[in-house]
Amino acid sequence: MVKLKLLNTIAPAYFYAATVVTLALHFLLFMPIVFQNPDVTINHTKMVHVSIFLFFMGNALGNYIMTKRYPSESTKEMDIPVCSPDCPDRIDAHYLLNGRHFCKVCKKVILKRDHHCFFTGNCIGNRNMRYFIMFSIYTSCCCMYSLVIGVAYLTMEYSISFENPLTFLTLLPLSTGYFFLGLISGLQFFLVIMLYIWLGIGLVSVGFCCQQLLLVARGQTWCELQKGQLSESRGTWRTNLTDVFGSRWLLGLFLPVQTIEMVPGNWEVYHDHKHE
Ligand SMILES: [Zn+2]
Repeated sequence: MVKLKLLNTIAPAYFYAATVVTLALHFLLFMPIVFQNPDVTINHTKMVHVSIFLFFMGNALGNYIMTKRYPSESTKEMDIPVCSPDCPDRIDAHYLLNGRHFCKVCKKVILKRDHHCFFTGNCIGNRNMRYFIMFSIYTSCCCMYSLVIGVAYLTMEYSISFENPLTFLTLLPLSTGYFFLGLISGLQFFLVIMLYIWLGIGLVSVGFCCQQLLLVARGQTWCELQKGQLSESRGTWRTNLTDVFGSRWLLGLFLPVQTIEMVPGNWEVYHDHKHE
């Protein structure tokens, strides 16, 4: 449990640090070099790229904040169940009843719990699932976009050719060797590492997003999938998606705003109210 709590602190710090580094690299290094054009007073290409990047980044950060802001905790149940030493349940949560779980990291009862996300530092349930999925999509977009611009910067500034597809495979081991031999600068080595970080996070995020979308469409949570259970109130994939994304889902695809009808208090109250 100490390890999980430590991870719960380190992962959000890693996310914030990666965001600050990505923003700094884009505005201080990439944009001025990749989109430089001394012949024009207003550089439209640069403005378009800045807008695209800020749109991706704004949505990633906005949905991250919304995921943290709307946890799926039950406000009714404040009692913390006592864990027996031979507890057979998963390491981070107790299954209670009716899709309710007690998260051992959050120390709260979570309604329709899917999993505990260490990057946001809280549990993902029905209430914040939509923000979590959009956060994954836009994080992936941000990373892949940074990867492309980063490759363009390395090509222009350090004359590294990426025409051969094998270049990307050999770039990290070669750069590591060259860095320790003093043949390339620390900045160049750092940029190469960032390319791999963006690629890694981008692929993981898109994979996560696809998995969550599939689960939402099936009306199932990750917790239920691991236990081989199916939700009692499974609807069609359309109603399942609307349940999570809300009636104003189209707006939610482009802006990190609230798209589901929220009733203060409990998710159960919200659900009863919705099906009246
Ligand atoms: Zn949790």
